[in-house]
Amino acid sequence: MKSHHICATCKTPTMAFRERKMGVYSSIYCYSCNSCDSAVQLKPKASIGVDITVGGLALGFWWIILNHGSGSPSTIELAIMGIALLAYAWLWVPEAAKHWLYPAEENSDDVTDVSLPQEKGFNRAVGRFEVVGLLGGLLAPIVLIVAVLGVATIIGYINYSFFE
Ligand SMILES: [Zn+2]
Repeated sequence: MKSHHICATCKTPTMAFRERKMGVYSSIYCYSCNSCDSAVQLKPKASIGVDITVGGLALGFWWIILNHGSGSPSTIELAIMGIALLAYAWLWVPEAAKHWLYPAEENSDDVTDVSLPQEKGFNRAVGRFEVVGLLGGLLAPIVLIVAVLGVATIIGYINYSFFE
């Protein structure tokens, strides 16, 4: 299997996949360098994408609520919003930076093929989802919201048309 990331220290594609661990709601792929003692734990790009979208939507809704309340937001509300923005950046920027520092070698094989077959249930489902990549991760929460709203609309329509 050819799946190496480029080491930030050696600048050579010698970061080899070691193991997949399960985080709270995403996988963590552990790599270490064959040439030096560098090691990195990468969160899949798809899960970073989900974090960006979900956090962004939450902050967006909060911002709308703040501005549609009674008058303009207070200093304290703006300060809390600022802290939330920093927490949001802290959530995904360091994870994204690790992918930038330790990029995958060109034409790498997908490590999920070797790390997932022995997994079961939720762990496996999360791993299977995470092959969708960054763009898929960014869009997944929006697709889910649209699907839920669509089903709710259909149920409401059926209810209204046939049971009223
Ligand atoms: Zn190295």
